[in-house]
Amino acid sequence: MAESKSAFEAGLANDLAKRKAQHLYRARRVVESAQQVEMRIDGHDLLAFCSNNYLGLANHDKLRKAAVAGIDKWGVGSGAAHLVNGHSSAHHLLEEELASFTGYERALLFSTGYMANLAVATALLARGDTFLQDKLNHASLIDAGQLCAAQFSRYLHVDMGSLEAKLSQSQADKTCLVMSDSVFSMDGNIAPLPAMADLCLQHQAQLAIDDAHGFGVLGLTGSGSREHFALTTRDIPIMMGTLGKAAGVSGAFIASSHEIIETIIQKARSYIYTTASPPAIAEAARVSLQLIQQESWRREKLQRNIALLKAAARENGWQLMVSDTAIQPLLIGDD
Ligand SMILES: *Cc1c(COP(=O)(O)O)cnc(C)c1O
Repeated sequence: MAESKSAFEAGLANDLAKRKAQHLYRARRVVESAQQVEMRIDGHDLLAFCSNNYLGLANHDKLRKAAVAGIDKWGVGSGAAHLVNGHSSAHHLLEEELASFTGYERALLFSTGYMANLAVATALLARGDTFLQDKLNHASLIDAGQLCAAQFSRYLHVDMGSLEAKLSQSQADKTCLVMSDSVFSMDGNIAPLPAMADLCLQHQAQLAIDDAHGFGVLGLTGSGSREHFALTTRDIPIMMGTLGKAAGVSGAFIASSHEIIETIIQKARSYIYTTASPPAIAEAARVSLQLIQQESWRREKLQRNIALLKAAARENGWQLMVSDTAIQPLLIGDD
């Protein structure tokens, strides 16, 4: 017989039941196949439209082989944090390759994009500084805003007037960091990065982009939204990219100048106090980077698929929101 529940658990059960009644209950679906076009999920054979595996690399033979060879060489676990003895030459080479691909001086690996975003905010901002974010930024950035010491404020979604008003209020002698999703993770629209870069330069603010849905996909070589808009690393001094979406692996990185990366290494608790991801994952990511650069047909095919989906939705009377990226929200109207 099950043990009786505590009053605390009974209270939680009550809250959970309310959530369910409001159709806000989140549930996992159990996947029984690798990430691919046709997947077996909760006992059904389905076509996958919802993964972030935009380039079909998550189950690519070359990545699988690199991961297996990586395990044969390095074992499974990294054993420690990067600043102890968990920073392998596989991680180190991947960082150099990421820096060279994205065009920044340095790149720094993280286990997740969530932790990378936390690191940017907590390492670079102090009490009295200002942190400005788009209202529809990813939850990890919103959390980073709440956890860092700076004054955190959100401007209206992609509204440059709203951003400028907040920039003019920031203190001249303090750091002001503006951070935005480049491709918004729910709506799929792209932030007006050229205008944002201009405003930030005018107001001597730092601009950081979360390129989780741009890296691998946008730009001629797939290096992300900075390449898409032909902006310089002066325009966008800090970029966060993830390796679990288009790159098909796991983890994330920050690309920036030597000074900014070193400051993050020295100060970011979400970098210092966590175990490095397995070196085999870095080996797979290195191969993914090569395929992203060499096989531009994957980006072309993605664009054709986006056009195909949009046309089919139109024919069927489905309402898609305005987006040219791989994120195509279908408007249903309620939860
Ligand atoms: C997925 C995502 C993240 C988090 O990255 P993880 O590596 O999954 O933790 C951060 N920002 C945006 C915009 C994302 O879509």
